Amino acid sequence: MEQKPKIVVLGGGESGVGAAVLAKKKGFDVFISDNKKIKEKYRRVLKHFEIDFEEGGHTLSKVLQAEEIVKSPGIPDTILLISQIKENGIDVISEIEFASRFTKAKTICVTGSNGKTTTTLLIYHILKNAGFNVGVAGNIGDSFALQVANENYDYYVLEISSFQLDGMFKFKADIAILLNITPDHLDRYDNKFENYAKSKFRIIQNQLKNDAFIYCTDDKTIEQMMKQKKINARQFPFSQNNEGFAEGAFLKENEIVINTNKNNFKMTLEQLALQGRHNVYNSMAAGVAAKLLDIRNETIKQSLSDFQNVSHRLEYVSSVHGITFINDSKATNVNSTWYALEHYQKPIVWIAGGVDKGNDYESLKSLVKENVKAIVCLGLDNSKIHEEFADYVDIIVDTNSVRDAVDYAYNLAKKGEIVLLSPACASFDLFENFEDRGDQFKEAVNAL
Ligand code: ADP
Repeated sequence: MEQKPKIVVLGGGESGVGAAVLAKKKGFDVFISDNKKIKEKYRRVLKHFEIDFEEGGHTLSKVLQAEEIVKSPGIPDTILLISQIKENGIDVISEIEFASRFTKAKTICVTGSNGKTTTTLLIYHILKNAGFNVGVAGNIGDSFALQVANENYDYYVLEISSFQLDGMFKFKADIAILLNITPDHLDRYDNKFENYAKSKFRIIQNQLKNDAFIYCTDDKTIEQMMKQKKINARQFPFSQNNEGFAEGAFLKENEIVINTNKNNFKMTLEQLALQGRHNVYNSMAAGVAAKLLDIRNETIKQSLSDFQNVSHRLEYVSSVHGITFINDSKATNVNSTWYALEHYQKPIVWIAGGVDKGNDYESLKSLVKENVKAIVCLGLDNSKIHEEFADYVDIIVDTNSVRDAVDYAYNLAKKGEIVLLSPACASFDLFENFEDRGDQFKEAVNAL
C-alpha cells in the first residue's frame, strides 16, 4: 500500500490511542507522543498495532514531521508546543473530526455544560431498544475513532465536549443537541465566558437544512447566541417555561409534550426514570431526537421510564440512621450543584470543594441560605468556600479526606436530613478523578 501522510497524535489516552489505531488501519504513518507515562493497557495496544510512540515528553522535531496533528482534548491550546505547531502551519484537529472522515454513520451529537453523559446514554438506550445498529462514544467506553476502526455501526450517539469541538472543522452532526451553557472550564477560554459559549455553538457548524438542532430555549445564553447565528438546520426548542411549540418539547401541566412534524408524544413526569428538573430537560432532548429518528412512541415511553442512571450523578448511596447519603461527585461546576441543592426539600449537609475552575458562587448563595445547614469542605484549599459562604451558613468545617468528611457530615446531620456530596469543583487535588472521589465516598458511607 502506498504510504499515506504522517499523522502525529498528541496524548496517549483513550481518544489518542483510538485515533492512532484508526490512522494505522487506514494506512497512515502514525506517531504518538505523550508528555506523561502512557498507561499499560494503551501501551499494549500500541505495541500490538506496531505504532511508534514516545512518552514522558514531546520531541519537537518528531512532532513537526506531521502533515496533520490529532490532539487529545485534555491538552490546552495555550502550551508552547501547540504554538510551535501552529507557527509551522500544521493543522491540529480532534479525534472526533479525524474519525468522522472514515464513517458514513448518522451522528446524534450531545453537548452542553451539564447533562451530556446522561442524555447521551439515554438516547443510546432508546435507540438500542428500538433495534438500531448503534454505537455510543465520547467520554463513554471506547473512543469514537476506535469504534470506527473496529465496528460498522449505522448510528453513533456522541457526547462532545467543548475541547473536542475546538478541534472540529468539517464535521457535521445530523442531529445536534445543545443542553445548556453555563460557566465551566473558563481557565481554558481566557476566562471569557463568551469564548466558551462560542465553542459550544460549533456543534451546529456545517449543518444543512435537513439536519436538526435541538436546544434548550430556557437557557439565556443559548437564546442570545441564537440571535447572532445563522441556523441552517430545522430547529427544535425544548422548554419548561414556555409551551405550544409546533416543533419541539415543552411541559403542559404534568406532561412532557413532544411535537415533531410526524406526530405528537406525551408522557407524565412521574413516569420518567430520571427525576429532577434538570433531568426533565435531558429526557425532553432525548425524546425529540428519538422522534426525529421515527422511533415508535411506545418504545420511547418505555425507554424513558426504565433507563438506569449512571453512577455519581445524584446517586442514592444509602440511608444510615435515617440520614440519606447522595453521591453527586460528577457535579464539578456550579450549575450542576445548583440543581442538586435545589432538588431536595430537606436540610442538607453539603460536602463541597476541590479544584476551583474560577467558580462564581453567587447563584448558590440563596439556596445555601435556605437549604444548607452546614458545609463540609473537602479539598486542599477551602478558603474561597469560607469567604463566599460564611454569611449564609452557620457551620463550615475543613477536611482533606473523604473519611473525615463523611464522619463530620454524619455527626452534623439529623434523622430525615441529607448528606450531599456535590463538590462544584474538580477532584484532582485529592483524587484521581470524579469517579475515584465518588467511589471513596460510597465506601466511607458504607463503612459507617
Ligand atoms: P456531563 O457529561 O455534561 O458532565 P452528566 O450527565 O455527567 O453531565 O452530569 C453532570 C452533573 O450535572 C451531575 O451532577 C448531574 O446531576 C448534573 N446534571 C445533569 N443534567 C443536567 C442538566 N441538564 N442541567 C444541569 N445539571 C445537570
